[in-house]
Amino acid sequence: MTLPLAKPALLRNQCLIDGKWVGTPAGVVSNPANGAELSRVPEFGAKETEEAILAAERAFKPWAKKQAKERAAVLRRWFELIMANQEDLARIMTAEQGKPLAEARGEVAYAASFVEFYAEEAKRIYGETVPSPFPHSKIIVQKQAIGVCAAITPWNFPAAMITRKCAPGLAVGCTFVVKPAPDTPLTALALGLLAEEAGMPPGVLNIVTGDAVAIGKVMTEHPAVRLIGFTGSTGVGKLLMRQAASTVKKVALELGGNAPFIVFDDADLDAAVAGAVIAKFRNMGQTCVCTNRLFVQAGIHDRFVEAFAKAVAAMKVGPGDAEGVVQGPLINANALAKVERHVEDARARGARVITGGARHSLGGTFYTPTVLTGVNTEMALSQEETFGPVAAVYKFETEEEVLRLANSTPFGLAAYFYTKDLARAFRVADELESGMVGVNSAILGNEVAPFGGVKESGLGREGGRHGIEEFVELKYVLMGGLN
Ligand code: ADP
Repeated sequence: MTLPLAKPALLRNQCLIDGKWVGTPAGVVSNPANGAELSRVPEFGAKETEEAILAAERAFKPWAKKQAKERAAVLRRWFELIMANQEDLARIMTAEQGKPLAEARGEVAYAASFVEFYAEEAKRIYGETVPSPFPHSKIIVQKQAIGVCAAITPWNFPAAMITRKCAPGLAVGCTFVVKPAPDTPLTALALGLLAEEAGMPPGVLNIVTGDAVAIGKVMTEHPAVRLIGFTGSTGVGKLLMRQAASTVKKVALELGGNAPFIVFDDADLDAAVAGAVIAKFRNMGQTCVCTNRLFVQAGIHDRFVEAFAKAVAAMKVGPGDAEGVVQGPLINANALAKVERHVEDARARGARVITGGARHSLGGTFYTPTVLTGVNTEMALSQEETFGPVAAVYKFETEEEVLRLANSTPFGLAAYFYTKDLARAFRVADELESGMVGVNSAILGNEVAPFGGVKESGLGREGGRHGIEEFVELKYVLMGGLN
């Protein structure tokens, strides 16, 4: 295989446990754009996962007892190394994941921003003193690292979903065992190498690849693990939560969404179209905050659909490393099958295909960016996340109606709407049942704000000051006898 990397050592074929690269390369990692083999990674299971957890347990106390400034310095170096290797990491990511190179470069910078932010935040884990109800005493509330953490991450953001979980935890003194998605372990392992080079002590960050079910079971049931962080489907999230109950672990879950994108009659049409293209088609529609349902008010509907379909039809499809490409392949055959099923079902139930609506002539897992109108709530794509390049447009009449439709799902991750009416902006933002709302804005992810969902979209927040709270326990110390 020939990935043009400035630092070829970043392409790994072993796992990182206790500061050693171990395991026999076995499971094939391939390029979704052409099926070519990129590398192989170990097929680890319960035994190696337990070894990694024990390594993380041994590493925990020494790491947690370091001065915050020392941990911050390691994170800072990791950040700098990630950015110094941005191009190589982006090439590895595009090769295993499919997203266009420009998006991959953007994700590497986004992933690095969490490491930078939490390197700074490591020094600001403040406690409190509380006025005591007893004489001659003080109440001190301090924050302590929760302990060994396990992280299970998805393939759609192979770098950022790791750093968004690990950087805050590492900053406060936690240690980690990470299981990346089987489609995209290479970016994760490359990040592991850079962490090692940044001076992360052995055992602080371990990465295992292989049997998801076996690894997940040990991670959720091992008593040494105190937190399980997961980004992925709601079904697997519920399973992990049930498994974690046996040892009462903290769970931090970023699960599926079914994001509404609402365009009111008074919206800026050009801004709404540009926002909808980003909110729907980033990463070929394969992000948990991608809009799954576009609600457009009757007075602007036809103008919006015309301009939006024109923009969608103009998007260049192809391998992510080809010039000018903005839509790559879907991650795998299952993803393609789901998109086809949703489009066929919508068509059969009366939706109109404005553009796209079929596989792309490039073959493989390429699908033509699609816009459908006349969509209703009976269609499968209304109820499940399509996770692909299909924009489903509904027509609505009133604010009340659209709020009811937008909120009528068990999910609540992201929501977006476009309006120029200030009162409506505040009113609708208040009423939407979601953890994040974009008002006249379509990109929600950044390192400073709390990312996360309500209802069945998850528990906990990642990013910003709030993202650190997941990884600390409060300890209250009552100091008596101070007379
Ligand atoms: P998707 O359908 O988008 O691949 P998943 O929720 O299946 O989403 O995958 C997200 C992550 O969860 C991946 O790393 C995957 O390997 C892992 N995973 C899937 N099933 C299990 C399981 N039973 N236990 C632990 N991890 C799992």
